[in-house]
Amino acid sequence: MIRLFVALELPEPVRDRLIGLGGGVPGARWTERENLHLTVRFIGEVENGVVPDIDAALAAVSAPGFELVLDGVGQFGSGAKSRVLWAGVERNDALVHLNQKVESALVRAGLPREERRYSPHVTLARLRSAPAERVGRFIQDRGLFRAGPIPIDHFTLFESRTGNGGPVYDPLKDYPLG
Ligand code: ATP
Ligand code: MG
Repeated sequence: MIRLFVALELPEPVRDRLIGLGGGVPGARWTERENLHLTVRFIGEVENGVVPDIDAALAAVSAPGFELVLDGVGQFGSGAKSRVLWAGVERNDALVHLNQKVESALVRAGLPREERRYSPHVTLARLRSAPAERVGRFIQDRGLFRAGPIPIDHFTLFESRTGNGGPVYDPLKDYPLG
């Protein structure tokens, strides 16, 4: 089995800015600089034999390149149940279009449909019993964060592995956008 997801790579200067947002929240496990990305479509565990079908499906996706703006920060969950701190993405029809193109290509390749609504974000930290007050202050203090516009001319199939010090994401292949 292999664990896969489709994502956009972020340029080094943008990742530097995202790393600069971190800190000040007890119980937060911050995303490593090299791991910062924007998921387009999570795939999950598949048999290795299916990878060529997934590759062919992704290679057949035709969508335009676009620009992306990161905008603000927020959380998934709330209060004591806060699980993730993220950087948001300014409303982006081209990104939603790409997500839909990838989704239908993967479903045609035989993968189960993603039932959850696409919610574009860059994961900044995983939280474990972080004090709600500190999480709230983190979000408030960084409300004006913006990065971009970031030109996006390809998307990438990643393998996700479990390393000793946390997850490791290996880019397997890039797919150009028109
Ligand atoms: P770990 O699960 O080990 O804490 P991780 O969540 O970063 O690490 P994966 O679970 O392999 O690693 O996820 C890879 C990427 O896909 C991450 O960006 C993650 O947020 C995203 N992702 C994971 N599960 C889903 C899901 N069910 N729906 C949408 N995106 C997901
Ligand atoms: Mg996960």
